[in-house]
Amino acid sequence: MLKIDNLHATVGDTEILRGLSLEVNAGEIHAIMGPNGAGKSTLAYVLGGRPGYEVIAGTVSFMGQDLLAMEPHERAAAGLFLGFQYPVEIPGVSNVQFLREAANAQRKGRGEEPLSGGEFLKLAKEKAALLKLDMEMLKRNVNVGFSGGEKKRAEMVQMGILDPRLAVLDETDSGLDIDALKTVGEGINAIMRSPDKGVLLITHYQRLLDYVKPDYVHVLSKGRIVKTGNAELALDLEREGYDEVIAA
Ligand code: ADP
Ligand code: MG
Ligand code: MG
Repeated sequence: MLKIDNLHATVGDTEILRGLSLEVNAGEIHAIMGPNGAGKSTLAYVLGGRPGYEVIAGTVSFMGQDLLAMEPHERAAAGLFLGFQYPVEIPGVSNVQFLREAANAQRKGRGEEPLSGGEFLKLAKEKAALLKLDMEMLKRNVNVGFSGGEKKRAEMVQMGILDPRLAVLDETDSGLDIDALKTVGEGINAIMRSPDKGVLLITHYQRLLDYVKPDYVHVLSKGRIVKTGNAELALDLEREGYDEVIAA
């Protein structure tokens, strides 16, 4: 599904990703953990095609296509979803408008008809219920005045509506209290745990992995993967710290 080979990427003049290789097959959940500044968010941005992040070497294929040659909207149409550490606020645009726009842009990219108002609302209600997010919240402007937990739930509602093949989730657990963590974790499982889907779960802490069990855990340090293991590795990291585990 996703094959990253020897990826090198720069931000400004600095090389942040320095030979990163990773393969995610359908049906797999991979966690990427690593100290602050390791390049975790940079990886997510590069996969999303964010301007300012330049790939200087390496290849990324997604569903058999050259991901790096695709525009961001083409990546979304092909089934890539990115969840960000810091969701943006969009004053003047309601969540409902935003989600419908996103869903129909994706459908257009696939040559499909847009959803009718009724179809969209049914889908939005179903996903909001899954994430225990009140529909009233979705009528408000995107993320404006939302708590950390509400932003992440709204983002997971968006993920549910777009129904991606691969979700790259950057610190989706940051800013969540225990209840929101559980709801968001269960939401990720409900939406993405499937034989034909994959997840790259970028996280600094182990706690989300109590709810979303990874098949593989990778440690990212200084722009490359320095260790790979199973769910046990995340517990080792939590117990011993990154330095200890990376040095071992
Ligand atoms: P992580 O998400 O693992 O904490 P990041 O990918 O955010 O790490 O950052 C990796 C490195 O890249 C850090 O040293 C950070 O300072 C640097 N970096 C990130 N974004 C920029 C930017 N826009 N300009 C310059 N340096 C950046
Ligand atoms: Mg960070
Ligand atoms: Mg980060």
